[in-house]
Amino acid sequence: MKKVLSLILAAALILCFAACSQQPATETPDANATVIKMGTNAAFPPYEFKEGEAFKGIDVDIATEIAKELGAKLEVVDMEFDSIITSVQQGEVDFGMAGMTVTDERKLEVNFTSSYATGVQVVIVPEDSDIKDLDGLEGKKIGTQLGTTGDIYSKDDYGEENVVSYSKGADAIIALKGGDVDAVIIDNEPAKAFVAQNEGLKILETEYAIEDYAIAVKKENTELLDKINAALEKLTADGTIDKIIANYISAE
Ligand code: GLN
Repeated sequence: MKKVLSLILAAALILCFAACSQQPATETPDANATVIKMGTNAAFPPYEFKEGEAFKGIDVDIATEIAKELGAKLEVVDMEFDSIITSVQQGEVDFGMAGMTVTDERKLEVNFTSSYATGVQVVIVPEDSDIKDLDGLEGKKIGTQLGTTGDIYSKDDYGEENVVSYSKGADAIIALKGGDVDAVIIDNEPAKAFVAQNEGLKILETEYAIEDYAIAVKKENTELLDKINAALEKLTADGTIDKIIANYISAE
């Protein structure tokens, strides 16, 4: 009898050991908090970018606050901009937040929360360019970021054969500097960041399109949509969102 008991005890010990060793090594107090995953493309400063291994930016900070409101921990999942909506639809991430413009086409695929920021599509050209306005883009080579509104609209307006789509905005800028394209159409805040980082480029004064940024949520997940909207409402009312935006964008 004694032998059987000690055998059972030993088995229990081994089982416990196996189970316990599966716990993460660095257990933090909130390790049991629900994780909420944000799909983004962290090459879109000042909304999302990487500093070393850390994700930073307006969207990352707002999402962190939203997660807090939801009692969850934020996990940022970096991917190509063009994959975000599919990833939301397939439930690989809980929401998409990437300076993403609300469009009628996208609304067929995902639900959007209320808008938290305004975006403007602008045109970047070399300082000595002969392109002075939107008409000047006719017949020129335009660089864009694949799947963005700048990409979609410019293919419509200037012809698909005149638009070269890159997977990253930064790659379109490299192409512009190398003379592979004559202009780049992209959102105004990343445009400002790119022009500040690269000599010899300027932003045209004419704006190409004015848009609303919002968070994309899976169609079926209306519960999460409502929760994020409630969080956004609170964070807008108490000034948190304005404060976050002001941290990254100086008022003009
Ligand atoms: N606002 C643009 C869009 O939604 C670009 C966003 C981005 O490149 N991250 O298409």
